[in-house]
Amino acid sequence: MDFDRRTLLTAASATAALGVAGGAAGSAKAVPSSQIRIGTEEAFSTKEHMKAMKNLVDANPEVIRFDYKLWRMITSDLEADTPKRLLDFENIRIPEMDEYGVTMQLLSLTSPGVQMLDTDTAIGVARSTNDELAGVIKRHPTRFAGLASVAPQNPQEAAREIERAKTQLKLNGIVINSHTNNEYLDDQKYWPILEAAEALDMPIYLHPRTPSDQMRPPFDDYNMGSAFWGYGLETSTHFVRLMMSGLFDRFPKLNVVLGHMGEAVPFWIWRLDYMSAAGVSRGETPIKLKPSEYLRRNLKITTSGQENPDALRYSIETLGAWNVMWAIDYPYQETPGAVYFMDNAPISQAERDAIYWQNAQRIFNIQR
Ligand code: MN
Repeated sequence: MDFDRRTLLTAASATAALGVAGGAAGSAKAVPSSQIRIGTEEAFSTKEHMKAMKNLVDANPEVIRFDYKLWRMITSDLEADTPKRLLDFENIRIPEMDEYGVTMQLLSLTSPGVQMLDTDTAIGVARSTNDELAGVIKRHPTRFAGLASVAPQNPQEAAREIERAKTQLKLNGIVINSHTNNEYLDDQKYWPILEAAEALDMPIYLHPRTPSDQMRPPFDDYNMGSAFWGYGLETSTHFVRLMMSGLFDRFPKLNVVLGHMGEAVPFWIWRLDYMSAAGVSRGETPIKLKPSEYLRRNLKITTSGQENPDALRYSIETLGAWNVMWAIDYPYQETPGAVYFMDNAPISQAERDAIYWQNAQRIFNIQR
């Protein structure tokens, strides 16, 4: 099985990666050598998670969905580059962090987490993953923080796990990989999860996955259900659903984090306000504030896998520099490209410090 994460590289980040290697000797860097860098969307897996995913894809050989195809590849050879990096902390990950000046990674179980598993398996894998994650952080408290996994399949149990993750394991938030069995978190049955997240100040990182069955057919061709396009549409739609359901009026302190420069949601800010005004006045949506007000209050975004200086500049102007965090999307995208991007972005050093680490510390309660 030839599955090499480098085939996922874009030409742009490959060029940026070369820029780091080539530029180190010559050009003076704008950033201080003491720059702190906290990556906030950095994936890992565990042996138990890999085994559960392998059992799932082996039991469903007829399914051709992108996520099944991907997990057949990943679990077919755990020595291949991507699974090896997902399962590693000390041998590959920390040396690579050291090489490129990454101070900390905020770890999260790789997508789709436990959300494709049956409920009992999902609850068990989430708990064991969180225990393992807490162990890794305990071994390397200055290098790793982490987001807890939960099984939304059982919302009451998920709420209990959020509390355990906060109070006992000292984790920094939770990751939910968009839809669960084609359902979205605005469904009232999921409110216990949102209530716990808000009460315990645990931000929800709404991470992408393959579009739900309702959305999927147009994404099934041309590999479009992937990170190329389908992931972002699925996840941005999920966030807008949460907002338009009135969820942020019910849970005003809830923080939802979107990667990939906000999955394009910030780009729509003016039109969301303009178009929602009519719907709100006709009583079609129950929201109390304008969409732009929720975007600036309840949404935080990260730069994971979106190394576009113009999009960064726009996001800072739109949401405020205090709502933007840096991320690599390790191991799916390259550390040197992400570092080169943020080191050279057209922003002030104050903005760079906010985005590189201060916001992550504040939003995810990361102690250093
Ligand atoms: Mn990711």
